[in-house]
This record gives sequence, C-alpha cells and structure tokens, in this order.
Amino acid sequence: MPIKCRKCHSADAEISLPYAGLSLCPECFLDYYVKRIKRTVEKYRMFREDEPVGVAISGGKDSAALLHGLRRAFPDQEFVGLYVNLGIPEYSDHCQEKAEKLADLVDVEFHVFDLKKEEGISLNDFRRTVFKKKICSVCGTIKRHTFEELAKRAGVKVLATGHNMDDILGFMFNNFFSGQWPQLIRLKPVLPPPTPGLTRKIKPLIRTPERESLLYCLYAEVPFREMDCPYSRGTKTKERLRMLETLSQDNPNFRHQALRIFLKLSKILERDIEQPSIVPCTNCGFPSLNGTCAYCKRIAYIKKVLSKDTEEK
Ligand SMILES: [Zn+2]
Ligand SMILES: [Zn+2]
Repeated sequence: MPIKCRKCHSADAEISLPYAGLSLCPECFLDYYVKRIKRTVEKYRMFREDEPVGVAISGGKDSAALLHGLRRAFPDQEFVGLYVNLGIPEYSDHCQEKAEKLADLVDVEFHVFDLKKEEGISLNDFRRTVFKKKICSVCGTIKRHTFEELAKRAGVKVLATGHNMDDILGFMFNNFFSGQWPQLIRLKPVLPPPTPGLTRKIKPLIRTPERESLLYCLYAEVPFREMDCPYSRGTKTKERLRMLETLSQDNPNFRHQALRIFLKLSKILERDIEQPSIVPCTNCGFPSLNGTCAYCKRIAYIKKVLSKDTEEK
C-alpha cells in the first residue's frame, strides 16, 4: 500500500522531503512550496504590499517556479516578468518563448531586453575573443546590467531572482574557501541597492532546494526551457552539487544548517569587512571601481573587435 500524504491524509504521497520529515501528495507539495516562498518573503521583509516587483526570468525552472509561486503566494501584488535575450543561437529564442508563455499564464506584464537589437551585439560574439573561456562571466556581467535597465523601464525598484538554496550554498562554499568575503556577504537574502537608482535584489528561493523547483514546474505544469545552454558545460556547478550531495547523505538537514551558519557568518563579516568603494560609471551610472563599469568595458571591447572585422572584410 502506498503511503498517504502527511498533510491531507487522503491522497497518496509522491514526494518525500527527508529534511522536513514529510511525504506529500502533489497538491500539498505545491502548497508547501508556495507557503515557503511566502514565509521567506515575509521573514526577510523582501517587499511591501504596494511595491511592484520585477522577476528576472531566464526560461529555466527556478525563475519559472519563482514567478508562478510568487503569484500564488501574493495574488494582490503587482509582478512584472523581465527577460534578457542574449542572442545565443536557438537557445535564447527558445527561452524567451517559454518566458513569454509563463508571463501569459500568470498574467503579468513582460519586458524583454534584446541585446542584438539594443546594442548590436550578442553573447556569441565574445566566443572568438579573449573571453572565450569566460563566457559565463561575461553573460553574468551583461545580465546584471541589463536586468537593471529593464527594471528601470518597468518602473520596479525590487528585483527577484531565482537563485535556489543549492546555488547559493555553492557560491557560499566557493567564496568561503577562497576567502572572498565581500562576495560572501552579497549572498544575503535581501541586497540593498549599491547606489541610488538601482534595485533592491531579493532571493525568495533561498530556502528552496533545487530539485523542488523542478518538481514544482512539473506538477504545476509551469512552462520552462527544454534545452541546456550550449555554453555552460556546467562542470563547476556539477562539482558543487556533488559535494553538497555527499555532505547531505548522512544528514538530510545539512543544507539547511549550512545555510543558517553562512548567513550568520556573513552578518558577522559585514561588520568587519569593508566593501570596496565604488564610483558611478561615467558612461551609464552603474557602480564601478574606476569610473567605467564592467558592462561598458565589455560592450566597448566587443564593438571594437566587430568593427575591426568589418574593416578587414
Ligand atoms: Zn496531500
Ligand atoms: Zn557603464
């Protein structure tokens, strides 16, 4: 006989959550997932009732489950879906289609930043340059900047991202073992704007294990991408996940404990560690270390490379 759901006691349990000692039916699991988002938002006071919230959608399962779950948890809140099309052949358009479908499904406004249309370049252009091996870092730089631009256009001051517990723990471990304290501090659930005019970044999935976003999308029939990014071979991420898996084997609560400890540590560090001083980028106003932000540097660089190409032709 199959076990019954621990919450409703009527439907068969299909999902087991060992860290919580729970076996749930799909309906109760979806409810559990949404309630955790609600509790997380409230616990860290991520947004007020009257603030419209931008949600960075990538087309992936985490941000899809995030927007869908936020909509259910806060039915009266205004949400806006934001998507950056980086011009990765096939992949970016596929993801945009899924993101559009999702925005339609949950009935929110949808804004796109199309890198090719707006800047005349694509992430693909960086592949033949010195950034060839650092394409994921270029991608991150571009997204950080363009999501801010989208938030400005959409009139939102809060930006929610789909980083899940495993993502955040992975970054925390990396920053911890390499002693990158300022970066470790930046992983907190609510990050105030680094300079006025930018968004407050929030991570409502900080307490959501990775696999549960996938389950949420599957059970709630939330559209998300069916393709993997052709640039990410995912070696680092996979290694991180394997390490977390090993450490969790004998202790299903390991991830939750580690997260709590890291968050405590980052609070202590925050008092002692000086964040690097920043000045606004002379070109776009974005925070920078020396007057030109990483985004403007990358864009200027690639435009130069591309113009040389056309000259040579
Ligand atoms: Zn149930
Ligand atoms: Zn700039």
